[in-house]
Amino acid sequence: ATPTAIMVGTGQGARAGMLVKNAEALELAEKIRVLVVDKTGTLTEGTPAVSDVVPADGWDRAGLLGIAAALEQASAHPIATAVVAEARAMGAMIASAGDSLAEPGKGLSGRVDGRDVVLGTPAFLAERGIDMAGVSWESLAAAGKTMVAVAVDGRCAGVIAVADRVRQDSASAVARLKARGLRVVMLTGDHAATAAAIARETGVDEWQAGVMPADKAAAVQTFAQGGERVGMAGDGINDAPALAAADVSFAIGVGADVAVEAADITLVRNSLHGVADAIDLSRATLSKIR
Ligand code: ADP
Ligand code: MG
Repeated sequence: ATPTAIMVGTGQGARAGMLVKNAEALELAEKIRVLVVDKTGTLTEGTPAVSDVVPADGWDRAGLLGIAAALEQASAHPIATAVVAEARAMGAMIASAGDSLAEPGKGLSGRVDGRDVVLGTPAFLAERGIDMAGVSWESLAAAGKTMVAVAVDGRCAGVIAVADRVRQDSASAVARLKARGLRVVMLTGDHAATAAAIARETGVDEWQAGVMPADKAAAVQTFAQGGERVGMAGDGINDAPALAAADVSFAIGVGADVAVEAADITLVRNSLHGVADAIDLSRATLSKIR
């Protein structure tokens, strides 16, 4: 494309809520055949709230929330924000935590009042040899909720379920992308049952769950192996490497003021429709100069 056509396209994009950082992305967008999307903050709003608190024997709701919030205070993850907000709202005692360690895509571990606390995905607890028998969480995951399993001194203390609303226009955006012949694939670090529920709700046919942040980039590269152009839409939280691995990357959910460093195009309207809009703009821009 001529520099002038690209400049015009970039200007049109900006007015329609697409901030194009990389001009080449505008040329490549129409060639995208596989669009990889993140779940949290991309298909969903990314502002989860606690929906269920299920203490194990020997624990009550306030005790469970309080000890989880003590550790989550140190984390900027949206799940952590939800747990701390709920603990405060119910007036739970939140101790100050000793040094905590974040495991991206899994959860956190650390010390609270001299006790060892581990929280995050059920798989993360299993990895630490913690048994979750006696706490029923499967039906919560099947309803699309995210599990924050909590263990204290090696024993499961209960589960906190966090629910995140699917963006109201995610399903229509997925339908529009599929109508343009794209494969839409969701990658998430969340549990398979949660992933399946969100995929069903948004019309996504292909998905992979339990994918660690670092492995999301490798997955994006796998789709590119057949020589196909791969797009990636994410919110920049834990998915910056995957955004960087795509031919064209889109950041959504970051608000009007923030352009995500790793993304070629920032969608300030916080909607996956922006990806379809960018593809259409790419087509229109290129057809003008053909
Ligand atoms: P996604 O792939 O959905 O964007 P992440 O990769 O950020 O999510 O995290 C994957 C999973 O790890 C979450 O669904 C959650 O179960 C768990 N997790 C990550 N960070 C935390 C945290 N700070 N507190 C509790 N759970 C966490
Ligand atoms: Mg995310």
